Amino acid sequence: MLYDNHNRPIQYLRLAVTDRCNLRCFYCMPEKGIKYLPKHQLLTYEEMERICRILAEMGVSKVRITGGEPFVRNGLMDFMRTLHAIPGITELAMTTNGVLTAPHIGELVQLGVKSVNLSLDTLNRDRFYQITRRDELPAVLNTLDALLEAGVAVKINAVVMEGKNTDDLGPLAELSRHSGVSVRFIEEMPFNGEGSHYPVLHWTHRRILNELQSLYPGLHKIQDGPFSTSYDYQIPGYAGNVGIIAAFSRTFCGTCNRIRLTAQGTLKTCLYDNGVLDVRALLRAGATDTDVRAAFLKAFAHRPANGFEAEEKRGAVTESMSTIGG
Ligand code: SAM
Ligand code: SF4
Repeated sequence: MLYDNHNRPIQYLRLAVTDRCNLRCFYCMPEKGIKYLPKHQLLTYEEMERICRILAEMGVSKVRITGGEPFVRNGLMDFMRTLHAIPGITELAMTTNGVLTAPHIGELVQLGVKSVNLSLDTLNRDRFYQITRRDELPAVLNTLDALLEAGVAVKINAVVMEGKNTDDLGPLAELSRHSGVSVRFIEEMPFNGEGSHYPVLHWTHRRILNELQSLYPGLHKIQDGPFSTSYDYQIPGYAGNVGIIAAFSRTFCGTCNRIRLTAQGTLKTCLYDNGVLDVRALLRAGATDTDVRAAFLKAFAHRPANGFEAEEKRGAVTESMSTIGG
């Protein structure tokens, strides 16, 4: 087992396989998109495989594929098969916007992917277009149906945005009525490639909870999953549950077991740090596995206690979430 300097286990890698995306979500990217990295600056699949193998030998057992949109990178499913074969990786997961996902669900299930996080901020087609700047809601809903039919556990990620989708909390929560989905409402973070949209965060986790309680007076707290970032609740009689992720307020840092590798191969030991190790440079300079392991251990020994400490060291956030992976 791998631990950081605050005695938190490190078991979970979030791996952004690309910074490219087929949507332009308001909270993630400017309308014109971000300046994508040239291909040679992205980690190759071989480099990602090597990093995952080294981390698995060190104690990481869960890998979540994210992006950008994972399915816009060619060869993704071949890479998933490679990851599946790495000893020690016992849990493979994915976060996707669902536009290109449906045809791959059968194979994802064969590779042992048991849970998929699907980003969906509204069930209204016009609002979906306003938020993502693309008319792709039908494709996303098709993916949701196909995931449920295949028996995959689905978590819906919905960012709550002032003036954009606050009328959608009820309709989205209703998705948990008949199926076991978990609908998680997320505080918006200032990671849109341009800084924050608002001087203050309007929809804090407390306000989201108040709104859900007024819509569903019987809403009650249920046990949160281990190392979960969401506070989970259930509506009486509903098959699934709803959750709130205080991503901006950062209430979950004390049990954080995750590290991130960005699309260009930068290690982040906290979502709010500025990147603490250039793993791509290390690999391309000819580092041995022992060198890479030592560099990881050094980074894990200097992990900030929480997102506020990490942010204090870095200054203003200028990145888009599509390079970090969420
Ligand atoms: N493209 C995939 C998707 O949308 O699911 C994977 C990458 S996306 C960056 C991962 C997650 O980050 C999504 O669930 C998205 O809602 C979330 N996200 C992006 N920007 C965010 C922001 N500014 N605040 C909160 N969550 C954000
Ligand atoms: Fe693309 Fe995901 Fe960012 Fe939306 S949140 S622009 S789908 S990377």
